[in-house]
Amino acid sequence: MKKILFVTSEAHPLIKTGGLADVSGSLPKALAELGTDIRIIIPNYRAIKTSEDIYYKSTLRINGTDVNILETRLPDSDIIVWLVDYPKFFGFPGNPYVNEQGQEWGNNAERFTLFCRVATEIAMNRAYLNWQPDIVHGNDWQSGLVPALLSLEAWHPATVFTIHNMAYQGIFPKSTNTVLDLPESLWTVDGIEYHGQLSFLKSGIAYADHITTVSPTYAQEIQTAAFGYGLEGLLSYRNADLTGIINGIDTEQWNPETDTYLDTPFSSATLSKRLANKLALQAHMALPVDKKIPVFGLISRLVEQKGIDMLLNCLSEMLALPLQFVLLGSGDKDFEEQLLAFAAAHPEKMAVKLGYSEGLAHLIEAGVDVFLMPSRFEPCGLNQIYSQRYGAIPVVRKTGGLADTVTDTTLNSLQDHTATGIVFNDTNSGTLMEAIKRALVLYSQPKLWKQLQITGMDKSYSWQLSAQHYMDLYNRVVDANQ
Ligand code: ADP
Repeated sequence: MKKILFVTSEAHPLIKTGGLADVSGSLPKALAELGTDIRIIIPNYRAIKTSEDIYYKSTLRINGTDVNILETRLPDSDIIVWLVDYPKFFGFPGNPYVNEQGQEWGNNAERFTLFCRVATEIAMNRAYLNWQPDIVHGNDWQSGLVPALLSLEAWHPATVFTIHNMAYQGIFPKSTNTVLDLPESLWTVDGIEYHGQLSFLKSGIAYADHITTVSPTYAQEIQTAAFGYGLEGLLSYRNADLTGIINGIDTEQWNPETDTYLDTPFSSATLSKRLANKLALQAHMALPVDKKIPVFGLISRLVEQKGIDMLLNCLSEMLALPLQFVLLGSGDKDFEEQLLAFAAAHPEKMAVKLGYSEGLAHLIEAGVDVFLMPSRFEPCGLNQIYSQRYGAIPVVRKTGGLADTVTDTTLNSLQDHTATGIVFNDTNSGTLMEAIKRALVLYSQPKLWKQLQITGMDKSYSWQLSAQHYMDLYNRVVDANQ
């Protein structure tokens, strides 16, 4: 049985800021079902929520510091989770990356270097856990140093590194390198150095045996200057070791037939029941309850990546159309304020909820008619998948995982019953507006609308297929590592 150490900075439901947590909470379960012994390692943040028991396992001495390893389970599973317990770094309120005021932790380089060192010790079976993985699977910059540190060992487990988002690179000044006391031999242009600075993400890309990202289209895009953040050269150089594997979703948690957050559960066979959720959402958001008016929705981190500025540019025009708009999110204060101002000026048409709410996110997916995702780039994206499963029609920009998971509505795709949404090309508010209008035209044709809904709902989004791709990859890298 393959043993995999899954290194991640967040995992649902323990702690979540975005899509990485969804992946870390569900991919390991799917891999366990395929017959692997997979264990997760994550920092023991103060904000971790669990009702599972937590046990002390061992103490490691890392560069003169004692770090405890605790053990718990991923809730609703048998999957072992090791918590890196070092309260001086992780024992504070706030999220994994920023404090309660939204500022990045000043010692993020130290925090995640310690995390990577502990993961490396576990990978080398030197953490008194009596467990030797065959593969170490790291995720995003927070685990980027693990392949580099392992490269210093005479033998090490095979390494896979997944990029969930190139925009977050973990770049720190050169001086940090001294503080972190990383071996000088790693500090090269082929290693962790990035234009005179330290890059955790580059480290993962440069040293891992294999690199994956979360959709085939994004795997191509990041090899170009527009998406590669200066690492496109390295990524094209490593092209033969770079694979795009689309994320699945947790189909138990995101199941409209059993979802307890909904007003009324439904399925593609009982689609008429869906309406009750729309009415409940309108009431919940204090919008006029009207079954006829199309309701648009958006759930997102409010950052430029997600095209929020593009949306703001055409929001007046959008709100002049016969529709309602519900938005849930948090992020840039400036975006938050502008969105609130629009909602205040158009209380009959737009409602904004700032903050994070799992329950409302589910109700929005079940209640809106159209779901907007005008992202500038989107490595995979989950909400457009949840939307399709919940019978909301996604309007998305043609990029990354959005391009790979939503089929644009054309005469052909309607005929062969593959159409599930509306896909537009350019990053400007004009094309976004056109796409919104196309959605309204489609909405006025209930038969076609229902066809799109049912096609989207009946598609398969489970992790099984993607997990099998990871398994095949693990087998290949382990064979090559022997
Ligand atoms: P990213 O990881 O770039 O933020 P994804 O679409 O891959 O984007 O994943 C975002 C996840 O976080 C989805 O599960 C989405 O529903 C959730 N999410 C984002 N913002 C909120 C919010 N304010 N409240 C509830 N869920 C949210």
